[in-house]
Amino acid sequence: MRLGTGVRRIVVIDDNEAIQNDFHRILVSTPKSDALADAEAMLFGKSGAPSPKPSMEFDVECASQGQEGLARVERAKKAGNPFAVAFVDMRMPPGWDGLQTIQELWEVDPDLQVVICSAFSDYSWDEIISKLGLSDRLLILKKPFDPAEVLQIAIALSEKWALRLEANLKMGQLEQMVNERTVELTRIAMQDKLTGLGNRAQFTERLTHAIESAKQSQDFAFAVLFLDFDRFKVINDSLGHNAGDCILRGVAQRISAALNIFDPPGNNTLAARLGGDEFTILLSGHPDKLDPIAFANHLLSILLMPYEIDGHSICCTASIGITSSQNRYNTAQEALRDADTAMYHAKATGKARYVLFDRKMHESAVIRLELENDLRHAIERNELLLHYQPIIGLSSGELEGFEALVRWKHPRRGMVPPMEFIPCCEDIGLIIPMGMWILNRACQQLKQWQARHPQHPKLTMSVNLSAKQLKSPDLTRQITEVLNSTGIEPSSLILEITESDMVSDLDASIDVLKHIREIGVGLHLDDFGTGYSSLSSLHRLPLKGLKIDRSFMINLSQRRDYLAVVNAIISLARTLGMTLTAEGIETPDQITMLQTLECDYAQGYYFSRPLDAENAGAIIGRKFTTMFLAA
Ligand code: C2E
Ligand code: MG
Ligand code: MG
Repeated sequence: MRLGTGVRRIVVIDDNEAIQNDFHRILVSTPKSDALADAEAMLFGKSGAPSPKPSMEFDVECASQGQEGLARVERAKKAGNPFAVAFVDMRMPPGWDGLQTIQELWEVDPDLQVVICSAFSDYSWDEIISKLGLSDRLLILKKPFDPAEVLQIAIALSEKWALRLEANLKMGQLEQMVNERTVELTRIAMQDKLTGLGNRAQFTERLTHAIESAKQSQDFAFAVLFLDFDRFKVINDSLGHNAGDCILRGVAQRISAALNIFDPPGNNTLAARLGGDEFTILLSGHPDKLDPIAFANHLLSILLMPYEIDGHSICCTASIGITSSQNRYNTAQEALRDADTAMYHAKATGKARYVLFDRKMHESAVIRLELENDLRHAIERNELLLHYQPIIGLSSGELEGFEALVRWKHPRRGMVPPMEFIPCCEDIGLIIPMGMWILNRACQQLKQWQARHPQHPKLTMSVNLSAKQLKSPDLTRQITEVLNSTGIEPSSLILEITESDMVSDLDASIDVLKHIREIGVGLHLDDFGTGYSSLSSLHRLPLKGLKIDRSFMINLSQRRDYLAVVNAIISLARTLGMTLTAEGIETPDQITMLQTLECDYAQGYYFSRPLDAENAGAIIGRKFTTMFLAA
């Protein structure tokens, strides 16, 4: 479209040929014929008056009827050479009248400036406005015209037309820029920066869309896969976050590649990273074509392949939870929650696998949520208490000390055993404050007993420590504080740790354990024989003793192989200078065997179940000798 040139195009729509010529003469300054000069005189009332020289060049076309005028305007617009101004006669029988003509013209070219040429005052502004609306593109010119007036109007309106077009053009450019930027910002807002996959916002949006589509059509189904890496934290902690990020990017590439193979074109498939090492995948399409299990299997196999990072070959497995539109979701949050629950089950049942969601999982998830909520208030509501199980010296039959075992007196569920709530406390981080409460309470109790039984100053208290507590940077300081505040000897406190707790980061664990030993506190390895730790690393741990797991005591007298293992454990402990405690002693023959093997201490129902503080206090000083030495 030409804007910059001085030539402005004008269309005159009038059924009077003489008037057409007048316009032509006035605007182009070249009368078509002398005969028409008379018409000008008639029209403008001035014979032969010189026309003012236009400051702008005009190109004038004429039409006798509205339809013809419209055709010209349409053609010009299409050719990219539109008219700036139309002078439209009000009456052009038998065709359209002026107002209808103008309506049609604006349909085709809304930028056109229009001058209504009216010989009579038979059209009022009210009528014009009611038909055409209030418009700044409209002027009325009453006949007879003054050539100067015509020229001025033509110049002024052409100028206005050009300015309006320019403004429109700028607005258009601005709008386009805004639109492009909006698209870009939306893309950024919907993308995971690290991997380039979608993010939670995009995934939620697409999943919501898929849920709606599945409601509307039986031919549409979707599946959501929730993927979490099994030991990603270990990678981050040991190799650093840069290595972790590299792996996450590699994972994203593998997921995208898998989708390219499995995803039929046109499907609403999306892979996203929700954060950390959590990824989600949306598969959708015809129910017969959707195979999330095949996809999950493929994913598990390709994710298993090692990643090469800084010269290290790193393997990490993932656990996947799957749910699908068969579960009839209303919101994306519900579907994500269920896929997450299934993923949690995949982890709990062995990791590196997929699990399909079923409703029962949801129920257990709700129960767990309730448990978590109740647990958060357990300490402040005084619902936790400690029971104490005696530990007996096998050669003397004397009470050496107690193991503190936590109990939760739940207002509705009654006494909850630790194995039902300790793992949950570990997951939600509550084990740190709870562990400190336990340590403090157990040490206070020991102090009380020692004060009441001064003849037994060496009575010990064993307290279980969880893996999460070992990772707490404040652990040694807190232990020191508890020792100081309760005033017990460090040597009368024994902390029990389990083998599996230290596997993930042995070196870091060893440092913490050394600090604990430096304070003078004893360390026992609990449940020995059930974890993963290799015997070769045992000598590196600054341990005072080993507790042989209860599982070895069962059938100890019947199974020779068990006996051989326990014998080997006892010799090993001897070599490493550690004491030995046997857990889960229930029968006299177990005691006899252990005595033969020269095990130091024993603990079990045979001597006593864990007791509340009052009953435990009552057995201090009691001898257990007769109960087993007779055997
Ligand atoms: P654990 O530290 O190995 O504690 C010994 C467990 O064996 C106790 O179970 C005890 O009641 C049980 N037991 C003792 N003698 C016998 C026996 O002769 N036969 C049988 N069948 N069982 C026996 P409890 O109290 O249910 O504790 C289970 C586990 O929960 C503990 O195993 C420990 O790992 C954990 N736990 C208990 N209290 C605490 C705590 O205060 N902090 C932490 N972090 N964990 C705790
Ligand atoms: Mg223990
Ligand atoms: Mg144990």
